[in-house]
Amino acid sequence: MRIAVTGTPGVGKSTLARLAAERFGWDLADVRGLADVHGLVVARDEDDDADVIDVDRLADVLEALARDRDPAHVEVLDGHLSHLLPVDLVWVVRCDPRVLEGRLRGRGYAEDKVRENLEAEAMDLILQEALGGDAPVVQRDGTRRSPEELLSAFVDPEGNPFKNTDLEPIDWSDWLLG
Ligand code: ADP
Repeated sequence: MRIAVTGTPGVGKSTLARLAAERFGWDLADVRGLADVHGLVVARDEDDDADVIDVDRLADVLEALARDRDPAHVEVLDGHLSHLLPVDLVWVVRCDPRVLEGRLRGRGYAEDKVRENLEAEAMDLILQEALGGDAPVVQRDGTRRSPEELLSAFVDPEGNPFKNTDLEPIDWSDWLLG
């Protein structure tokens, strides 16, 4: 089975995905790396300062890979597009825009890119996209949780990722209005 670890850039996806893979012996892949390997980084969006990935073709590749796998085998797929790919479960990691802002500025993102990502986070954009897919969606707020605490909020100690499949309530509309 494949778990998408998704969320706005900077929320802590890679940190969580790495920790989950380490803790439970799961395989770890990231969307950007897979796109590179399969020649599916198709363009560069200069306005967005981001690479464009052919998500449909990457979905076909992942579909084919999953067919040859033991269903008990777990793979975590890290990336803000991972919920758009063929997965069995989606983990949406969230972070308060007031905290996320510092992380994105720390990465040297341009002002408009910071703003755009913070608005996306406050408006639940990725959550809404994920809910439009077929896989169950779990949402957790990582703002005041250590990576360990966040992992425990997604998965039970035995490593059963299907134990908690609910959406933690999150409301950052005050940030949007402020
Ligand atoms: P993403 O993969 O979503 O872009 P990262 O995992 O790279 O995010 O994390 C972004 C930054 O936030 C890093 O500096 C990381 O160390 C920090 N970070 C990640 N998870 C947490 C957490 N639970 N609490 C505090 N800081 C975190």
